Amino acid sequence: MKKLAIIGRPNVGKSSFFNRLLKERDAITSEMAGTTRDVKKRVATVLDREVEVLDTGGLDEGSELFDKVREKSIAAAKQADIILFMVDGKNLPIEEDKKLFHELEAMGKSMALVVNKIDNDKMKEKVWEYYEFGTQTIFGISVSHNRSINPLLEWIAKQLPYIPQAGELEAAEPDMMDEFDDLLDAYMEEDEEEGSIYDENDEMKESDEDPNHISVAIIGRVNVGKSSLLNALLGEERSVVSDVAGTTIDPIDETIERDDKTITFIDTAGIRKRGKIEGIERYALYRTRTMLERANLALLVLDASEPFRDLDEKIAGLIDENRLACMIVLNKWDKAPRDDYDKIVQQVRDRFKFLHYAPVITVSALTKQRIHKLYDMIIQINDNYSQRITTSRLNEALAFAMRKHPIPSMHGQVIRLYYATQYATRPPQIALIMNKPKGLHFTYRRFLANQLREAFNFEGTPLLFKAKKRG
Ligand code: GDP
Repeated sequence: MKKLAIIGRPNVGKSSFFNRLLKERDAITSEMAGTTRDVKKRVATVLDREVEVLDTGGLDEGSELFDKVREKSIAAAKQADIILFMVDGKNLPIEEDKKLFHELEAMGKSMALVVNKIDNDKMKEKVWEYYEFGTQTIFGISVSHNRSINPLLEWIAKQLPYIPQAGELEAAEPDMMDEFDDLLDAYMEEDEEEGSIYDENDEMKESDEDPNHISVAIIGRVNVGKSSLLNALLGEERSVVSDVAGTTIDPIDETIERDDKTITFIDTAGIRKRGKIEGIERYALYRTRTMLERANLALLVLDASEPFRDLDEKIAGLIDENRLACMIVLNKWDKAPRDDYDKIVQQVRDRFKFLHYAPVITVSALTKQRIHKLYDMIIQINDNYSQRITTSRLNEALAFAMRKHPIPSMHGQVIRLYYATQYATRPPQIALIMNKPKGLHFTYRRFLANQLREAFNFEGTPLLFKAKKRG
């Protein structure tokens, strides 16, 4: 079993977290403790995995001197496979801690920096300070207020062995299979809507929308620079048109023409009007929701000069809900902290996982850095979002994928995918015609999606599958 050490100065909250980890397993723990006298073996369950937590409680005793902490920390870290380096978010980073952190990091073990005592939203800013330790594996938590503990638990679980893969399912325990079945049913339910949306003999349903008309929603919380970005975008463009012949454009929108495309920015009046009311979270979410209802493409604007916030995440979630094309715009790049591009993109990827398909671009609405690129990207993403892949190309790509990794059988039943066809655009939606639609494990579906993303340009667009039964 892998071993976990929680390391840090006295009073940062190590033992609270230790106890929290052990909480669910106390009965088993005490049994185990009886087996060995001096070393307390504490087994904790982290999500569905087990880990042995090293009792580093002794670290705090007589450890007023940092040298002592250092010595004991190194000893504990040596025994561990996974190291949590805990600091107190109420304090600024200490040079000695940073040095020790790097020393431990050099051991090459799985290691996370845990900034504890982030008791409220305001405290979250403090986590940012600790980015100077130079690690991406950083978690702001509050053990006492039970905040943001889950991402850390998930990270720990990820360091622990055994993640069942699609191919291993048959070998899994029977009751485990049931669990997977339930999961699968829940997943597939949405696909088995009443009345088939897809009839095999149907022609592809063309979207009634004109693929050359792109409705763009610029969204983000207050002060990230939406209105500045809008001005920069419209300033780029000489031919601002107020109306487009033959279409009714809501007067609160603004439309420009670019190449053969018409681009409408939705609710520009609302973006420019900076009332205090915008600061109210519920209102911001409501307004974003109504904008997204009319949009094809969302520009999610984030402030690169500050830590991301929960509200950023909530707003991003609405894009996912609406299955929109998306681009993530990291604004205020001119005053972004020393973090380099790769680091911040990684932070975006970690935090906005469900927008994995969205490209990330860094811009400055202030200095106009890279603003000109946004239009090309909008047009490219719209093309990807609106594209139709022919059935033959689609099936070639899928056949290639299935040769690489055949569909795993389910309960010993052979699962067949006869063919696939795209039945809708904006976003691309693909029907998989199968013998047993429920037999397609979601991990395999994800594999197919990734393969299609490699074969075609789906950058910036979600990709939807529906498994359908033949005949
Ligand atoms: P909105 O609430 O999202 O519409 O944000 P605003 O466009 O009103 O911008 C909020 C503040 O950030 C203003 O003071 C802007 O001048 C400033 N700002 C916007 N974009 C940038 C940028 O790229 N760099 C810097 N340094 N400041 C910016």
